[in-house]
Amino acid sequence: MKARFGNRDYDVQYVSRPGEYDGEWSELARILTINTVQGDKIILETELHELLHAALNTELHAYIETAARQIADYLWRRGYRRK
Ligand SMILES: [Zn+2]
Repeated sequence: MKARFGNRDYDVQYVSRPGEYDGEWSELARILTINTVQGDKIILETELHELLHAALNTELHAYIETAARQIADYLWRRGYRRK
């Protein structure tokens, strides 16, 4: 899956790696990695988290973490789910 923010194109890679991080943002490689071994709500939160890092081009992890969790909670209550 591709994601574009401004003039920056990212390759979003979905991987299954038990015991590893939930997600990763590599600005240098322009790759967002989402670990799909977690439950669907954590995957949603991880996608938002890594996309926000890329969209805002910021390493402010604590700020992003709170925003991603709150948006994921909202969307989850609204019924958004993976197909
Ligand atoms: Zn982060």
